[in-house]
Amino acid sequence: MSMADTAAPPDRYAVMGNPIDHSKSPQIHTLFARQTHQHLVYEAIRVEPGHLATAIALFRQAGGQGLNITVPFKQDAWRLAEVLNPRAERAGAVNTLLWGNDGRLIGDNTDGIGLVRDLTQNLQQVLTDRRILLLGAGGAARGVIGPLLETHPAGVRVANRTADKARELARLFEDAGNIEGSGFEDLADSRFDLIINATAAGLDSEVPAIPTSIIGEHCCCYDLMYASQPTAFVQWARNHGAALAMDGLGMLVEQAAESFYLWRGLRPDTPPVIAALRSGL
Ligand code: NDP
Repeated sequence: MSMADTAAPPDRYAVMGNPIDHSKSPQIHTLFARQTHQHLVYEAIRVEPGHLATAIALFRQAGGQGLNITVPFKQDAWRLAEVLNPRAERAGAVNTLLWGNDGRLIGDNTDGIGLVRDLTQNLQQVLTDRRILLLGAGGAARGVIGPLLETHPAGVRVANRTADKARELARLFEDAGNIEGSGFEDLADSRFDLIINATAAGLDSEVPAIPTSIIGEHCCCYDLMYASQPTAFVQWARNHGAALAMDGLGMLVEQAAESFYLWRGLRPDTPPVIAALRSGL
């Protein structure tokens, strides 16, 4: 519905997760809606574990049109979706839901494309033929591997504290490009052009136990985590000579923009929204 129809109730969207109070998604989608003249509301809904299916059904009954799904429900949403778009199927996690014309619940995952767009469009990084190191083998790492491999890097190394999980993840994507898995201790002799931190270490202000020798010349370090202050990984990268060190706020806005596009068919202009969030973080 466009602004011309403001007499009608706004279309409804929401993010579901737990905890959810900290979510920036309502702010981001409200800025997108204002910019693109869309008549919609976007709220944050806290869902108790085990109640996602009920919460989705109630939201739909109340006229809801689309949802974002965040921690800890992305895998649950993957199981609940009746149709999975290919990138979500492979990621094993869903962060965006919408209903098709036939009423079926469609699941998608926009995290990976969000990361790639922030890197390539906002930060002007070239990924083709680059050596990429992905730290972590959890849900976020799994979601970004497919879109990273689609940029045709020289290779993707997945390294994780629990090395077997990294090897398992690499096996899962081995048909999609040059990828291998290892522990952190196997990195000492390698150099990378792009190092992506997809671990949860930053939540405890920690940096994964990686050697500084892996930072190649002109290396870009990217932390999926974001905060009002430089994250532990961003500080680590700056202290050890990375050419560029960025947190994941841009990815957050870009994944939201892709969800908005799936729901509304319009692409918001993201840099002003990233800047607005950055100034108010
Ligand atoms: P998971 O819980 O699924 O995975 C956690 C990962 O972090 C595992 O690989 C785990 O290793 C590793 N890890 C945890 N603590 C440490 C530590 N102290 N040292 C080294 N490795 C550690 O989390 P997610 O994958 O869902 O999320 C990871 C991060 O990505 C979070 O900070 C999250 O906020 C962020 N994120 C950001 C997004 C954005 O839009 N910017 C989108 C999605 C996620 P092990 O297997 O050995 O336990």
